Amino acid sequence: MIQKILIANRGEIALRVIRACREMGIKTLAVYSEADVQSLHVQLADEAICIGGPRSADSYLRADRIISAAEIADVDAIHPGYGFLSENAKFAAQCESCNIKFVGPKSKSIQMMGDKSVAKDTVRKAGVPIVPGSDGPVDSEAEAVKSARKIGYPVIIKAVAGGGGRGMRIAHNDVSFAKEYHVARNEAEKAFGNGAVYIEKYIEKPRHIEFQILADSHGKVLHLGERDCSVQRRHQKLIEESPSPFLNADLRKKMGKAAVRAAEAADYENAGTIEFLVDAKGNYYFIEMNTRIQVEHPVTEEVTGIDLIKQQIRVANGEKLDFDQGDVTWTKHAIECRINAEDPARNFIPSPGTISLYYAPGGPGVRIDSHAYSGYAIPPYYDSMIGKLICFGATRKIALQRSYRALSEYLIRGIKTTIPLHKAIMSDPVFIDGKATTAYMEDFMSRTPTDLF
Ligand code: ADP
Repeated sequence: MIQKILIANRGEIALRVIRACREMGIKTLAVYSEADVQSLHVQLADEAICIGGPRSADSYLRADRIISAAEIADVDAIHPGYGFLSENAKFAAQCESCNIKFVGPKSKSIQMMGDKSVAKDTVRKAGVPIVPGSDGPVDSEAEAVKSARKIGYPVIIKAVAGGGGRGMRIAHNDVSFAKEYHVARNEAEKAFGNGAVYIEKYIEKPRHIEFQILADSHGKVLHLGERDCSVQRRHQKLIEESPSPFLNADLRKKMGKAAVRAAEAADYENAGTIEFLVDAKGNYYFIEMNTRIQVEHPVTEEVTGIDLIKQQIRVANGEKLDFDQGDVTWTKHAIECRINAEDPARNFIPSPGTISLYYAPGGPGVRIDSHAYSGYAIPPYYDSMIGKLICFGATRKIALQRSYRALSEYLIRGIKTTIPLHKAIMSDPVFIDGKATTAYMEDFMSRTPTDLF
């Protein structure tokens, strides 16, 4: 039985895991960098160990130090959260070999789905539609151009090791392709230490719709419905909701089954996400699997009533999922707004600094997952997300009204945030009508005066 968990992360997700552990009677060990001494996760965990300097490379990415901390404090399991080492197959394997349970899938599944072109090949063989593209990575410009022409422009060049929307480039013809191919390779090399890229057909104005998977170590694989994450900026999600205003029951059923097949093909265990692009006609294409808990998991928790972090821990403990696909119901609508320390009026420039005043909204149907508080100094070293506002209710309309109401109550002074931007989106007719595709943000920004946010 798991009695103590090390949380190999920081920020709101570290708090989220601590909260689940506390409710389950499991002890927690926080690890932190020198820049995070004042962080809430350090204060709320039962124990905390400093693992190094402020830069992620000196702390949250130091697998060796994290494993040492786990051994010193005698923990049974490590929860990696998202980002950092969460999708690092080597780290998961190290945990396995040190007899520490990794709260996530087996290292083999992480490796398989972490290479995006292997992942596509794996799910295609399981009968899941994929975006037409190159057969694996394209290693020379000549080979790449040939492949792009065969697929047909526009195409998107993507990093095999990609993540977080980085290393992605769109090309509309041979000339732009030649340039973007090298830019993408360089970006991928810098961001991931792996310059390999592959090519896909660029789907115009699709929706990003992903399915939450939960699988145990006894062969049961279920899906918990979808999240529509079409509101993105530079391929990074800003707003997520469930159910998707685009899916009908029939398409949901088909895509859910495809998602389960994709997870089964990866011999998957624990929580994961199958991401699809869906075109205007309802054709859906697998793009990737995220082999970890996602930022937007609370949206699914609120509509299904299932606590994903607790389920992750139970699965890691070897327990069986005690419900079946037919037991999963979607009784609410939930919308998540990512609150980032950024200035939307100035091209989303990061806005680290000290929060002079923090007041979070409350009332019915409002959930905040955040590590921010009055007086908290946001370190400049990590990502700019300082919280998530999840609003939910019986209908999409209520969730929208609640989101607007809660955003209006939310006070964060001393830094710039995305709160005013979210308010503007919640009152935008295109978003309210449920018509947002991945092209939405660019259009919204071009037609909305920046003094609105
Ligand atoms: P990452 O792992 O970097 O997040 P993804 O493969 O998940 O990359 O893609 C992120 C986003 O990029 C998608 O949600 C979508 O908006 C856009 N995108 C990716 N592939 C395509 C494609 N073939 N056509 C159109 N847009 C795409």
